Amino acid sequence: MIGPSGQVKGFLRPETAQGIFVNFKRLLEFNQRRLPFAAAQVGNAFRNEISPRSGLIRVREFTLAEIEHFVDPFNKSHPKYETIADLELNLYTACNQMDGKASEMVRIRDAVDRKIIANETLAYFIGRIYLFMIKLGVDHKRLRFRQHMDNEMAHYATDCWDAECLTSYGWVECVGCADRSCFDLLQHTKATNVKLVAEKDLPVPKVVNVVEIVPNKGLMGKHFKSNAQKVMTRLNVLSEMEIKSIEEALNEQNEFVIDLDKENKVTITKEMVTIKRYEKKVHVEEFTPGVIEPSFGIGRIMHTLFEHNFRIREDDEQRTYFALPAIVCPIKCSLLPLSNHATLRSFVTQLSTQLSAADISFKFDDAGSIGKRYARTDEISIPFAITIDFDSLKDEMVTLRERDSTEQIRIPMKDVVNTVKELSTNCRQWDDVRNQYGIFDPSQSSSEPPPQ
Ligand code: AMP
Repeated sequence: MIGPSGQVKGFLRPETAQGIFVNFKRLLEFNQRRLPFAAAQVGNAFRNEISPRSGLIRVREFTLAEIEHFVDPFNKSHPKYETIADLELNLYTACNQMDGKASEMVRIRDAVDRKIIANETLAYFIGRIYLFMIKLGVDHKRLRFRQHMDNEMAHYATDCWDAECLTSYGWVECVGCADRSCFDLLQHTKATNVKLVAEKDLPVPKVVNVVEIVPNKGLMGKHFKSNAQKVMTRLNVLSEMEIKSIEEALNEQNEFVIDLDKENKVTITKEMVTIKRYEKKVHVEEFTPGVIEPSFGIGRIMHTLFEHNFRIREDDEQRTYFALPAIVCPIKCSLLPLSNHATLRSFVTQLSTQLSAADISFKFDDAGSIGKRYARTDEISIPFAITIDFDSLKDEMVTLRERDSTEQIRIPMKDVVNTVKELSTNCRQWDDVRNQYGIFDPSQSSSEPPPQ
């Protein structure tokens, strides 16, 4: 109940998906009426959980990111299937769960061939979810895909897999990936009498027998008055099967009853409609698309990332850090002048300008000892640190430090920004940079300003 009096009933969406389904016609137009295509949405979702608990794991309001991929239900192949087909995933099949067996490593291609995963498109998204989770920093040893068993699968799904992560709360479902079949679009059509279909060209035109129900508009208007249009719209979306059973009812009882919506039914008599049958040559075929839906719970993924990436330095348990991959770290590098001596300032300005221009988020820190500053940046997962020291005045080189290994290299100042960019966008790995420049021993750098 909402509002000051609490008298108004409010509804909150449990998923973002339905917003995409009601926009199906526009999305299809936007994609030149061709399938497959996908739409994605990120937003808040709400669940009336009985007992919200476990931090971000079970809450009543959370951020959900969903993709609805619309596909021809008779052809669920995927053009990019080969890019993921050879990935080996930890699959916990419904069969293994029933038999009390453990999960096992299975190649996606084998899972599809053995019909463990229902189709290529569903498998493609499972593969992409795996790659996405690994890229974010989920530990692959603590990630499995669990298939829903028949008794837990949503009524609309034909096959469903959850990406589950092992956390201190046990295995937690972080991403759901379901083949929702044609269920949602059909439900919306049922409720609104608006056809949500796509068309495909037939290889050769074919002659089909059409059964049509044609309303007698005059009689309908007279009888149903302001409801007449609604009744005619409803008749317009009847399937061939429905028309056939109406025909039988008309022959036996001279009338039939039809649902207008959830609350209203109307009775239609023999005089109000004509059932027409004829042959027609058609070049296209109409069909209701199937939907494959990956659904990402952002809070649960974030929680997993923090658990899987929390580290304590071997030599000092006070020093903790997050070993998140650079690509997801909100701040990519820190800028640390060894001293706030005036001679280093122009370098700081120069590097700050270059970092901003390269769109690299960075944190400037000149307070306290360099060790403390490194510890501070490690704690908030900044993957790289640029240190300017008094040797920089002589050789225009700076130190670049990597968070996880704490290794340092000495690199020309003119190259450092580009190198941080490459490192933080996964274009280059630290090993490669270290091999190019060699490890640097920081105790050799000069911490004294040059004599005046
Ligand atoms: P579902 O539609 O139930 O498969 O949920 C989709 C995703 O939303 C799940 O994989 C979870 O990551 C997330 N999720 C579901 N319920 C909650 C909740 N109560 N709190 C936080 N995340 C949730």
